Amino acid sequence: MARRLDVPDLVERARRGEPLAVGRLLSLVESDGPAGREQLREVAAALAPHAGRAHVVGLTGPPGVGKSTTTSALVGALRAQGRRVGVLAVDPSSPFSGGALLGDRVRMGEHATDDGVFIRSMATRGHLGGLAWSTPQALRVLDAAGCEVVVIETVGVGQSEVEVVALADTTVVLLAPGMGDGVQAAKAGILEVADVFVVNKADRDGAAQTVRDLTHMLALGGSVGPQVWRKPVVRTVAARGEGIDDLVAALDSHRAWLDSSGERERRRLARAEAEIEAITLDRIRSRIGDLRGSSGLSGLAKRVVAGDLDPYRAADELAGNVGS
Ligand code: GDP
Repeated sequence: MARRLDVPDLVERARRGEPLAVGRLLSLVESDGPAGREQLREVAAALAPHAGRAHVVGLTGPPGVGKSTTTSALVGALRAQGRRVGVLAVDPSSPFSGGALLGDRVRMGEHATDDGVFIRSMATRGHLGGLAWSTPQALRVLDAAGCEVVVIETVGVGQSEVEVVALADTTVVLLAPGMGDGVQAAKAGILEVADVFVVNKADRDGAAQTVRDLTHMLALGGSVGPQVWRKPVVRTVAARGEGIDDLVAALDSHRAWLDSSGERERRRLARAEAEIEAITLDRIRSRIGDLRGSSGLSGLAKRVVAGDLDPYRAADELAGNVGS
């Protein structure tokens, strides 16, 4: 049985940027089970007044496109400007949980000893609701710890992309020449969700063509007006750190646009709504699971099968029992 931690004290220490306290809080928000849930509530309550300042950048794209190389270069550029940075590498397919610090240190080797960088792998496989539970809280931990920018990098593909977009202020989509990029990206609806495009591996043949295809597609779909964000296409050679300053500039100008257009507020409200909804649904599901006997799901099902009750009445009863 783990010793109970003094959560408000941890939050205070995390706000001063103590790596150990930040690490502990991240582990707390990742822990599952009833005890974990209880502590999660405590952590959420203690963090609430200190969150909402960080610029959350979601970074997504197909495997091998250069996401982790770009993230590492981006961290370097932001650190060079003296900004504190957090990185959450989200891997929905990984069974390894948050303490995968060794892997992180290897992966982001050059930043491992920098006190201004917090890096964490989040394994979400098997967690109810995937990212829904732990990632928003992990974001708040890094936010409270004074990270000006938090990068959420998806390691996996598919659903995680969508979920990352839902969490980010600014979504960056990485493409690379010769990866079936342009057309496929359009199919995946990625043109709409991206705020900033990066064409990485610009040292390779076909990079100029990829930029042209993308720019063309954006022009076709683009609307104009003072409140409209024009999605930039940034070329990078992440492996050599080239173009990363342009990426930082694009992120900063998107952040400024979010504030001036009111879009940041709108996105944050939508995010809070989704989070409240997810927590409520989860709670209802677990209440349904707790109900046993005639008031529970299986008891009601028996009565429906026996013809004593129609499923709508059964649902009314179940909802009543859940609420009581
Ligand atoms: P991820 O799977 O999207 O995270 O991609 P990685 O960052 O692991 O990069 C995949 C491979 O591409 C690695 O071998 C990198 O060294 C390489 N790579 C990353 N950026 C560039 C680049 O700008 N140019 C070239 N030629 N290779 C790159």
